[in-house]
Amino acid sequence: MRNVIIIGSGCAGNTAAIYTARANLKPLVIAGHEPGGQLSITSEVENFPGFPQGINGPDLVENMKKQAERFGAEYVYGTVERAEFHHRPFRLIVDEEPIEARTIIIASGASARWLGLVNEQKLIGRGVSSCATCDGAFYKDRKVMVVGGGDSAMEEANFLTRFASGVTLVHRRPQFRASKIMLDRARNNAKIRFVNNTVVEDVYDVTKNEVTGVRLRNVETGSAKDHEVDGLFVAIGHIPNTQPFRGQIDLDHDGYIISHGGARTNIPGVFHAGDVQDRVYRQAVTASGMGCMAAIEAERFLEAEGH
Ligand code: NAP
Repeated sequence: MRNVIIIGSGCAGNTAAIYTARANLKPLVIAGHEPGGQLSITSEVENFPGFPQGINGPDLVENMKKQAERFGAEYVYGTVERAEFHHRPFRLIVDEEPIEARTIIIASGASARWLGLVNEQKLIGRGVSSCATCDGAFYKDRKVMVVGGGDSAMEEANFLTRFASGVTLVHRRPQFRASKIMLDRARNNAKIRFVNNTVVEDVYDVTKNEVTGVRLRNVETGSAKDHEVDGLFVAIGHIPNTQPFRGQIDLDHDGYIISHGGARTNIPGVFHAGDVQDRVYRQAVTASGMGCMAAIEAERFLEAEGH
């Protein structure tokens, strides 16, 4: 029986682990299918406070993990297949093994939705990104492309014009899902060029280990052409990693955890932290902040129950 099980090992999970370990709760962290979370697929992180020269994303999460381990946090490399939250103690099935806990912190994150191209996957962190806030500053005076037709795509395209010499926004349909205000803002930005009815079919150049261009196909005419870019930002939505918790806690229509204030879910003793609940900020520092909140709430919950 564990005092605390933390599901996920990104910024939120690792910060929750540091705090609960320092509170002597001996947390168990289940690292999940993307250990290290979104930072593990980022290159340089320049906006996490405390690193004036920036820090490599994978190094930052690894440092957090070591920090948590120093205080007694234990990590296992498994995936939660099922959760049972309707009875206490809570029970998780991890790689077919049941584990029980008095409190749970869900920090399983949201995975960026990708186009699903082989070369796109190989170039993630090397010119292919899902986060303009994280990587935009690397594209000063360079040409970038944003894919998507929702608010995220508009926001990312606008943000990228602060750095890039030009932004090409590629969307597969003539109509946009984005809200009018976001769309108008992008349309009024002279640095953004819209290319509709078009999909990205391939990304170059894996042999150079950087993005040099993409292959575009017009879905109406069927014609294809190459287009030179230095960065490809895929902004086609996120998928919260809440599949194992369906039917166990309150989720919204997109599968994000519904917060009941602070880090609380609708089940007392089950807490949330990071992108699994946050569809707005999605930053390393906000996820860490929420991990801290969840840890303090779990600590107080256990204390109130006399553990
Ligand atoms: P979204 O609204 O679901 O839009 C996703 C976009 O990606 C759609 O245009 C979709 O095309 C396109 N897409 C999906 N799969 C694709 C694929 N395989 N290939 C090419 N294109 C693909 O997602 P989002 O923009 O991330 O927004 C999510 C939520 O957050 C929304 O509720 C949004 O309003 C909110 N949000 C708000 C703000 C803000 O207000 N500041 C900023 C960001 C996000 P189709 O349209 O053809 O389906």
